[in-house]
Amino acid sequence: MRLEGHIVLPDRILPGRVSFDTHIRSVEPDADAPRRYILPGFIDGHVHGGDGADTMDGAAAIDRLSRFHLSHGTTTILPTTITRPWADVMDALHAISEVMSRGVANGPRIHGAHLEGPFVSPHKLGAQPPFAIPPSPERVAEAVGTGCVRVVTLAPELEHAETAIAAFAEAGVRISLGHTTTDYEGADRAICAICAAGGVPGGTHLFNAMSPIEGRRPGPVTALMCHDEAFGEMIFDTHHVHPASFRLVSRVMGNRLLFVTDAMRGAGQPEGPSQLGGQDVMIEDGVVRLPGGSLAGSVLTLDRALRNAVESGASLPNAARLVSSNAAAYLGLSDRGSITAGKLADFVVMDERLEIAEVWVGGARQA
Ligand SMILES: [Zn+2]
Repeated sequence: MRLEGHIVLPDRILPGRVSFDTHIRSVEPDADAPRRYILPGFIDGHVHGGDGADTMDGAAAIDRLSRFHLSHGTTTILPTTITRPWADVMDALHAISEVMSRGVANGPRIHGAHLEGPFVSPHKLGAQPPFAIPPSPERVAEAVGTGCVRVVTLAPELEHAETAIAAFAEAGVRISLGHTTTDYEGADRAICAICAAGGVPGGTHLFNAMSPIEGRRPGPVTALMCHDEAFGEMIFDTHHVHPASFRLVSRVMGNRLLFVTDAMRGAGQPEGPSQLGGQDVMIEDGVVRLPGGSLAGSVLTLDRALRNAVESGASLPNAARLVSSNAAAYLGLSDRGSITAGKLADFVVMDERLEIAEVWVGGARQA
């Protein structure tokens, strides 16, 4: 099979054709290629829901939200839990394991779970319900034992955080600092501990649920920006992060910055009242809020995030890296993330206005 168009490579746009079966076989130039874009499939490492479904609702809901995000270009997804009583979180991890092993028909690849909560600070919950608990060795072993956890959001100031870092790193789980009251020094120590344990450090939705950057108090964002080994997530719906803050972090972090949606069940649904983690929220003008006014997840999709980046001055190859290769590098997925011979044939075809035209997974058109 082959696709023709303007191929978005990591460093340039090549008019040409991509030949593939389940994997990409060749990429060749063709000056007459049609005026549409071929991008690598998108990777969303932090997504709670969409199309009325939430990860915490179980396997059928995970199918539904996964297919919704596929229609917006996501070909690899990490369904994400929320802070709830521990038994509910474990139920969600078992549901994600089940969906991972059977796959989602006409859906994206399920890489595994992002465990966001309950190992977060009770003082920086954001929109997480109030069931935060410390990462005791027993709970960490139970979560890791499901075999599906790929990313954990961790507040490094919690009791047991040090042993949890060692255990998660050993299990290959990316450790993402977030929902934390830690300062620059605490974040710096945690990043060093993660690296020393052989792990990969990250930051959960930079700037949100953590202290800001100030001259005398640089905060965790600065620690993450200054460590060459650290990655960072960003929800770039332009409500969670100002475009100038995106440009700042993008300049410093380069390929260590990745876009996530943090989408909740209201993504793709009519605006109005909805629910997040058992709490009432309101969706208005593309923004989700708790009754008190705090942001409560997003209704973002990755195609929109890509357009937001381009509108904020990013080149298309750079914007594409933010939704594909950077996340692949963070997650250690060397088989995807760019349009290169030998990689999986996961593609997003977009028209000239960067609207989704086609989505392909493993050489099969799915949307
Ligand atoms: Zn969060």
